[in-house]
Amino acid sequence: MWDARRIKHCRVCGSPTHYQVPADDNRERAVCIACGEVHYENPLNVVGTVPVWREQVLLCRRNIEPRYGLWTLPAGFMELGETTEQGAVRETVEEAGARIELQGLFSMINVVRVGQVHLFYRARLEDTRFDPGPETIEAQLFHEHEIPWDQLAFRTVRETLQHFFADRANGSFGLHLGDIT
Ligand SMILES: [Zn+2]
Repeated sequence: MWDARRIKHCRVCGSPTHYQVPADDNRERAVCIACGEVHYENPLNVVGTVPVWREQVLLCRRNIEPRYGLWTLPAGFMELGETTEQGAVRETVEEAGARIELQGLFSMINVVRVGQVHLFYRARLEDTRFDPGPETIEAQLFHEHEIPWDQLAFRTVRETLQHFFADRANGSFGLHLGDIT
């Protein structure tokens, strides 16, 4: 069950908050004890890509916590003012310094426990020159048999890669929906 209770102070006036069910609501919110501001917490979108060069997939080794040193597909939190597609491209540029042509939405996985929705798009790499940003130790292409399955940072990355290689073997790519509770 998602029970974060992360908001300790009011974003408006800085006073402590208290979790309670506001009038006309049906779940607990952080309510400011001084000014009454109600703070809503909703899931965040994580957007990323499966960048492909011929038979290989690009992975990034994380230079940040959590999961420092483990491998991930380029992905990150969607920003205000952008679409999911724009966010996926931006994260791929920021983390890998890779130039891509975005293809179809490939996986959408609810990560209920942490209040996130992860969306990955397939993408075609335009070349193999990478310029990893500060969040990435190294960006590297992997053949399927080289994927470091025991050193992947996130379960959504693992499931997305598993679907990718299965679809590729079958000769057609679908859209994969999943829930991690
Ligand atoms: Zn307040």
